[in-house]
Amino acid sequence: MAEKMLKFVQTAQAMPEKRTASERAGDFDEIYREFAATKATEQASRCSQCGVPFCQVHCPLHNNIPDWLRMTAEGRLEEAYELSQATNTFPEVCGRICPQDRLCEGNCVIEQSGHGTVTIGSIEKYITEKAWEAGWVQAPKPTHGERPQSIGIIGAGPAGLAAADKLRRLGYAVHVYDRYDRAGGLMIYGIPNFKLEKHVVERRTALLEAAGVTFHMNFEVGRDASLDDLRKKHDAVLIATGVYKARELQAPGSGLDNIVPAMTYLTASNRNGLGDKVPEYDSGKLNAAGKKVVVIGGGDTAMDCVRTAIRQGATAVHCLYRRDKANMPGSMREVKNAEEEGVEFVWLSLPKSFRGGDFNASAEAGFDKLKQADPAAARVKDVSFQGGEGVSAVHASRMKLGPADASGRQVPVEIENADFDQPADIVIKALGFDPEDLAQAFKAPHLEVTRWGTVKISARSKMTNIPGVFAAGDIVRGASLVVWAIRDGRDCADAIHQFIQSKVQPSAVAAE
Ligand SMILES: Cc1cc2nc3c(=O)[nH]c(=O)nc-3n(C[C@H](O)[C@H](O)[C@H](O)COP(=O)(O)OP(=O)(O)OC[C@H]3O[C@@H](n4cnc5c(N)ncnc54)[C@H](O)[C@@H]3O)c2cc1C
Ligand code: SF4
Repeated sequence: MAEKMLKFVQTAQAMPEKRTASERAGDFDEIYREFAATKATEQASRCSQCGVPFCQVHCPLHNNIPDWLRMTAEGRLEEAYELSQATNTFPEVCGRICPQDRLCEGNCVIEQSGHGTVTIGSIEKYITEKAWEAGWVQAPKPTHGERPQSIGIIGAGPAGLAAADKLRRLGYAVHVYDRYDRAGGLMIYGIPNFKLEKHVVERRTALLEAAGVTFHMNFEVGRDASLDDLRKKHDAVLIATGVYKARELQAPGSGLDNIVPAMTYLTASNRNGLGDKVPEYDSGKLNAAGKKVVVIGGGDTAMDCVRTAIRQGATAVHCLYRRDKANMPGSMREVKNAEEEGVEFVWLSLPKSFRGGDFNASAEAGFDKLKQADPAAARVKDVSFQGGEGVSAVHASRMKLGPADASGRQVPVEIENADFDQPADIVIKALGFDPEDLAQAFKAPHLEVTRWGTVKISARSKMTNIPGVFAAGDIVRGASLVVWAIRDGRDCADAIHQFIQSKVQPSAVAAE
């Protein structure tokens, strides 16, 4: 039944039902159930239809949120879906995994006035799931017929797939190359099932295939072809390869066994969930069952690791982060979920070394000497132990927050004589990601990158310094969000279309 809008908010905020912590710790299924139709309508009707919708301004895709909320409240679900998908290639993905508390919902006017935000993400997911059920989600079809040009896209993550969708609608032949065996990028091998079930991504890939997009999987650019080879084959090339070089922790003992990078751990878990044979998971090396787990880091990747470990049956899971809760980069919603599931956060703690048997006492002493002799070298030199021995504890210092640095963030400062040991059978490093050296990997020494190693593009044309080569997503922004990758992919598709049309005969452009 249509809900009356444009009144003061009287209806209390409600999220879709969340499964209990003990139930969800026993499986990898998503933690929220579906909204019932009446609930979705009622919750959508809480929107105040603001004249200046800050939610829309703060959504990277500038989704027309108030309008699709109104349509949902009025029971006009198909129209709501049409409007929502017009600006977002994967609305059901964003509805599930956008950090809404930092984007649309964090800027909802009724949130700011203390009534609790409209649950925008859940309603976006609801609309799109209903559209899938009703058969309204269709494979993208060329709207102006087929065009003779082809586009090569390197990377089947959200940036590459969003561009593929739009370019196919424009009638181009689209070829997507990816070094993995499945399309989806981090949506498949990084983000765990309990946040985003894999079938949600897989049905989108199937739709693109049905639309005529050609996927070349297990194809690594740099190994199986150079960037120049692809340029010769296609009229334009899009680089959407993401960022995968894990940041390292330089500390004594960092070479001990069972200290693993987050992506290695998460990929093994995701592959196991997908039914792949994963020897290192089966052997127990990358499986937290029955183990004490320590995760180092405070971002969303760290949250995914701690919650995966809980589901695998770890006996204890501790997350060490050098700042406090208020200053951690991860989404507060995810921290709350992790706390409910039994994760213990050890705020204001900085790992100094790793213990394994009796090795560490001397390694630490060696490191202290090195630090006295050359503090700069001690920070960067790898003094890790490579003895094949397993880690048994993380030796960490307690920190306090000191004065802010130039960026305005308070700097963590070590508290003297307050070190402690956190017992661990497995340590997962979730310290962030940097770009790989693409110019070298792609055998394209002229490809211009920034000082952070991300690919440099023109803000206007979205093109790199190599004509006809564009770039989008994390490889341009650094590690970011799915919603930004979608935005970049869509923008690049428009830019590629403009680039190609500017080269074809003016009569062909006029004919459109
Ligand atoms: C553990 C984890 C959890 C996250 N959780 C969230 C979340 O909850 N919400 C959110 O919004 N964001 C989250 N993110 C961030 C988000 O996943 C990324 O910002 C987003 O996936 C970037 O999209 P992309 O298309 O640029 O790159 P990716 O998704 O990384 O895709 C890049 C693709 O390029 C391929 N590739 C790389 N090099 C080559 C090559 N040489 N040849 C061929 N193919 C290549 C890769 O195999 C990959 O498939 C998370 C990230 C991680 C690591
Ligand atoms: S795409 Fe993300 S930020 Fe935009 S409305 Fe949806 S959930 Fe909010």
